[in-house]
Amino acid sequence: MKKLAIVLSLASVVGAAWAAQIQDYPIRPVPFTAVRVEDSFWSPRMETNRLTTVWYDFKKCEETGRIDNFAKAGKLMPGQFRGTPFDDSDVFKVIEGAAYTLALHPDEKLDHYLDDLIVKIAAAQEPDGYLYTARTIDPKCRLDFFGPTRWSKLEGSHELYNLGHLYEAAVAHFQARDKRTLLNVALKSAELICKTFGPGPDQLKEPPGHEEIEIGLVKLFRATGERKYLDQARFFCDIRGRADTHKLRGPYQQDHKPIVDQDEAVGHSVRAGYLYSGVADVAALTGDTAYVSAIDRLWDNVVSKKIHLTGGIGASPDGEAFGANYDLPNATAYLETCAAIANALWNERMFLLHGDAKYLDVLERVIYNGFLSGVALTGDRFFYPNPLESDGKATFNMGSCERAPWFGCSCCPVNDVRFIPEIASFIYATRGNDLFVNLFIGGSARLDLSGTPVELKLATRYPRDGAIAINVGVNGPKEFTLNLRIPGWELSKPLPSDLYRYGDGLNPKVKLAVNGKAVPLNLEKGFAKIARTWKSGDTVSLDLEMPVRKVVAHPAVVADRDRFAFERGPLVFCAEGADNDGKVLDKILAGKLHFQTDWRANLLGGVVATRVSAMDSRNSLTLIPYYAWGNRGPNEMRVWFPTSQTVKSSSRESSREALAQLPSPLKPKVE
Ligand SMILES: [Zn+2]
Repeated sequence: MKKLAIVLSLASVVGAAWAAQIQDYPIRPVPFTAVRVEDSFWSPRMETNRLTTVWYDFKKCEETGRIDNFAKAGKLMPGQFRGTPFDDSDVFKVIEGAAYTLALHPDEKLDHYLDDLIVKIAAAQEPDGYLYTARTIDPKCRLDFFGPTRWSKLEGSHELYNLGHLYEAAVAHFQARDKRTLLNVALKSAELICKTFGPGPDQLKEPPGHEEIEIGLVKLFRATGERKYLDQARFFCDIRGRADTHKLRGPYQQDHKPIVDQDEAVGHSVRAGYLYSGVADVAALTGDTAYVSAIDRLWDNVVSKKIHLTGGIGASPDGEAFGANYDLPNATAYLETCAAIANALWNERMFLLHGDAKYLDVLERVIYNGFLSGVALTGDRFFYPNPLESDGKATFNMGSCERAPWFGCSCCPVNDVRFIPEIASFIYATRGNDLFVNLFIGGSARLDLSGTPVELKLATRYPRDGAIAINVGVNGPKEFTLNLRIPGWELSKPLPSDLYRYGDGLNPKVKLAVNGKAVPLNLEKGFAKIARTWKSGDTVSLDLEMPVRKVVAHPAVVADRDRFAFERGPLVFCAEGADNDGKVLDKILAGKLHFQTDWRANLLGGVVATRVSAMDSRNSLTLIPYYAWGNRGPNEMRVWFPTSQTVKSSSRESSREALAQLPSPLKPKVE
């Protein structure tokens, strides 16, 4: 831990050197290394990730030849390339996740495992820095993916995508272990990239086929202070959609028009989410206002027309892509787990840029629902798509009707493993004398507020209930503003748009008190601000009333017409066959509904289950949190419940024909 502190302080010295010329996000996250999570909801998931998923994913990478590919490219063993060229990135992503866990939990076995693995990766790197095991093993092995020469088929090769994950892993490993082994590989690679791609006469002027290297280059810039990595990230963002530099590849790769002219989220949703995150980073670091306007417009489009209630994005299985505006089907919704992660990473950056809690409303919805559904409670079974309905038979999960142990393209399981530890870095943030509490996750944080150390302790059983207690620790009185996020769901706005609304007229109460004395809700950009001189032992209590809410979708969403969904706090509910005699798809919830919520400690790791009964019919259902479904084998599952027989029998949940029949003021743009 001491070593880690030295590395971090070195990084901040380097940071101070460039801070003079470079801007940055006005709000700074409190890194997860300064946060201790002791939370009844998240700690078990983080421990499962550390103790099970990290090792499980490495084992799968071994079994499937992903790790041997590095050894083969490095001539440490004989053999042919096995798998798909983008498999290299899977190994980098597990290393990133492993490094995050090592930063908090020293583990000699894991540390040595990484050392051995990094030897293989370094051996696979060609002398000039090129790293792409498939071509190095056999330049002709997968010409269906890559071109006959380096970088000659960027639209499909993933040569640059893999490197983005290498850079993220290398920075994580360097910061966690104070070892430069993987960082040296990354820097050597980045030198080659900066030399090869750029505006110069002999340089290539093409964007990566799958965005990700933009985020990785910014991380290399932050770790080293080398401006050229930031410039390179900017180059890759700038060149996308520029017909004067290359043959455009179209909307699937967001390469249909320059990023500053884009206003609708289109194409492959993971690519898009990573691009928008990279653009946000570059915008924050360079102060480019045209970039900010572009991602603001794209965000408005996603949040008002292209996001599911679970926070999932990328509705269409066709190209793993965004659908048309308001085309948000349920059973056929794709909503890749990686896209949920990309969406969360993007919204975190939007918050750091603008300081508005509305971005955290999206982030919270993603992490408690459409992301978390991707990993089984056991940590070793996964969903790739995350639909909002299943008949228990359709093989929606890459050929399976239930959670799978792995996938041919296994991007999601290895993304989960690196994302879960990162959640701790979304909880707190600072801006000068402002301290933000963004998420209600129990534990403590030590942070620096304009040179003064502050310690916060947060106790809660959220999302089981909405009682939150925060204890302040300071050395002597300190004046600062505590900004507590009041979630949108508490202020009767499920998402910051008109895409979903609560259809029950309830008005849940918020109570805020300091040292037991009620204080008014001084709301600004979604935060309750408490400005005062704080003393050690001061306590803040926030009480968020958490009734079950009935959600209605915008009438343009055909799939959800005459249907309700239910949620409580940040959790979207679903009904699963396992709690309902095997049947949920035949239920109609008409008329006045009655809810009864119960804490069930022994169900699915502990959940608040809700019994919903329709007064005027025999229909009733037990609801569980959406994230917990699919842990008991193939099952019927539903999030949006019909209110009449006609809806129940309708199979037309997303057809363009149905969209075309909308009354004209509601008619969304259909391309
Ligand atoms: Zn994925």
